[in-house]
Amino acid sequence: MLSRLCLVVFAVCLGSVPALAENHFVRNQNEYAHALKDIEAGDVIILANGEWRDFELVITGKGKPGKPITVISEEAGKVFLTGQSSLRIGGEHILVTGLVFKDGYSPRGEVISFRRTKKDVSRNSRVTEVVIDNFSKPDRYESDYWVGIYGSNNRFDHNHMVGKTNKGVTLAVRLDSEESRENNHRIEYNYFGPRPVLGSNGGETLRIGTSKYSMFNSNTLVAYNVFDRTDGEVEIISSKSGGNVFRGNLFLRSRGTLTLRHGDNNVVEGNVFMGHGKDYTGGIRVINRGQTVRGNYMEGLRGTAFSSALAIMNGVPNSPVNRYVEVEGARIENNTIVDSARVGFNVGADEERSAPPSNSTFANNLLSGLEGQSFLEVYDDISGIAFSGNRVAQGEVEEQLAVKIDHAPVAMGRAENGLLYPADPELKTLGAPRDLKVVSLDQVGAQWYPKPGDELAFGSSGRVIKVHPGEGTLAEAAMAAEDGDVLQLSSGDYTVDRSIPLGKTIAIRGAFEEGAEPPRILFTRPSLIELREGGNLQLSNLVIDGELAPDSVGNSVIRTTTFPIQSNMRIEMDGVSVRGLVVNKSFNVLTLGKSALADRVTIRNSNFADITGTVVSAAAETEDFGQYNVEYLDITNSNFANVGGAIANVYRGGRDESTFGPFVNISGNNLVNVGKAVTNGSVASVNLHGVQIADVARNAVAGSAPFRVVHTVGTPKTAITQNAFSNTPQLVLEELNFEGDHRAKLAGNIFDAGGSE
Ligand code: CA
Repeated sequence: MLSRLCLVVFAVCLGSVPALAENHFVRNQNEYAHALKDIEAGDVIILANGEWRDFELVITGKGKPGKPITVISEEAGKVFLTGQSSLRIGGEHILVTGLVFKDGYSPRGEVISFRRTKKDVSRNSRVTEVVIDNFSKPDRYESDYWVGIYGSNNRFDHNHMVGKTNKGVTLAVRLDSEESRENNHRIEYNYFGPRPVLGSNGGETLRIGTSKYSMFNSNTLVAYNVFDRTDGEVEIISSKSGGNVFRGNLFLRSRGTLTLRHGDNNVVEGNVFMGHGKDYTGGIRVINRGQTVRGNYMEGLRGTAFSSALAIMNGVPNSPVNRYVEVEGARIENNTIVDSARVGFNVGADEERSAPPSNSTFANNLLSGLEGQSFLEVYDDISGIAFSGNRVAQGEVEEQLAVKIDHAPVAMGRAENGLLYPADPELKTLGAPRDLKVVSLDQVGAQWYPKPGDELAFGSSGRVIKVHPGEGTLAEAAMAAEDGDVLQLSSGDYTVDRSIPLGKTIAIRGAFEEGAEPPRILFTRPSLIELREGGNLQLSNLVIDGELAPDSVGNSVIRTTTFPIQSNMRIEMDGVSVRGLVVNKSFNVLTLGKSALADRVTIRNSNFADITGTVVSAAAETEDFGQYNVEYLDITNSNFANVGGAIANVYRGGRDESTFGPFVNISGNNLVNVGKAVTNGSVASVNLHGVQIADVARNAVAGSAPFRVVHTVGTPKTAITQNAFSNTPQLVLEELNFEGDHRAKLAGNIFDAGGSE
């Protein structure tokens, strides 16, 4: 990597007439504007260390090869652009380095733009060692790009981007003008850090082109970048143009796939996908003509269907540009796929996508699935694919494919590059090449900026703060606590007389004391806890009693602030009893409001009694844009009695198919007299609308409103099994966009006494 000193030397000293190069040291925006006035090739503007608030940094001019116009920080990583800041680059031969964007967001459509105006686009310019850290617009559904690349021959390398929480691609290469096509941009050695689940379309990390310009070549190189937990949506990379090369990138624990969505003649080679067994980790999805997929390595991927390790799609005959062009002339060779859930051929085959791949080869691939599980699946005609030299080491193969592929165990060993290879030298032509280089975390991003670790776990600080019963003690302790702390409550009553604003990760736990009652929390405001930015909450071994709560609109023990929350939340309840939420007709336990997304809500071994409202309300996104409030909801081994609303109300409306969730698991619970309050509009005890994966099992339900499941788009998977219903109506099942019977899997459910069979 080019060192910082080299950059400056390169900029200042390599010019043929070095005497003309000027250094401008600037301390504020006025001085910057002044320095910019007569900037010339070889000049360097040095931004003083410190915070530059609300700085819309613009740089343009005519640098020359070897004599760029440079904007550099006094010291790398010590110049912070905060508040409403952005960077726009026009002209040519411009170099920008050393900046950190944090504590704010761009007031524009982009944080970094490789164009100053529509007419002044950037050529032969470079952005390197720039950081964009959690610089997201506050409302998750207000869209922007963090980086928009226009023009030609630009290089974007060794940058660090982490924590985009709002809608819109992290980095977009735009082809919307002629000068931005066949651009030869290089996107290299960047660190694309964690991007949380967006809960809607528009969470791609990298996109090149759009369907509208997909017939043009972009000729962009994307090489040796790391994509670490880039979980925004189903596409990590969406290639929507021709002639791109994706080489040597590393995908770590990232949900979704590199998708060759539109455009022809792209090359995907030498990339490494490490899923570590995480849900929905995928590999490469192949669509369109002339695609080459060779020498890639995948391990530990768990995605199926569109997010398989390898998904070769069926196309639409004479497809319009925005649908699915047929796979033709694909070469898929020497890939290694081990410990992964699925490789699919003719994926997406249906009445519209009826054209199978043609004139394609699938050769010398080494494939190993999960023991005893379906691995290679075929959904239509595969006669247009020539198979040769492939080997399946483990996993089931569909019959029509089994005759075309050898199936025998392969002894494997881990090589020095960390990847698995066959031990037998006879098999050396099989799978990914031996000399495949795996890019490492310390080769990408800015060396001087730390990469994020795992998400903060409850109790991770190691501090346990003892809180004594009384008035105000709990609120005081909660306000003073720090991330990762545990508040430990002893037996007795805790009265909370203000709503606790929670913007950190804390656990509130009742101490287990021999023979003593668990501590009881009472609260005198409409809510006990208000979740804010950065808030995660764990409650255990407690009683929460609504006895002192006032009659107020929107009562809820826990609710989200009315301001948009950028971060995804986690909420856990274990061994908690909630009772007496009866002061008015709709008193909820947990209410997730608009523009809030919980990664996980987990309730187990808990008791809920005498509650007029809903236990988990995740139904605030009512515009039918495919947005929703909870990714994983688990309610298990808990008791519900006399609850007016549903125990779970989850809503995801619309026809978008870009998300994996929501996922709901409701099992092993007892429900008595649940969901029958007239104020509960849906009249259901469990109400799931547009949930993608639902497992509803082994619940005992008496004298309650029915379970209601509405399927919207995609291939929702609902299993309702082994539930016992007494004096409770039949299931209410609806399909909104699918002709035919409801697709829920039903088995072993029993209805008696009043079941309306
Ligand atoms: Ca998408």
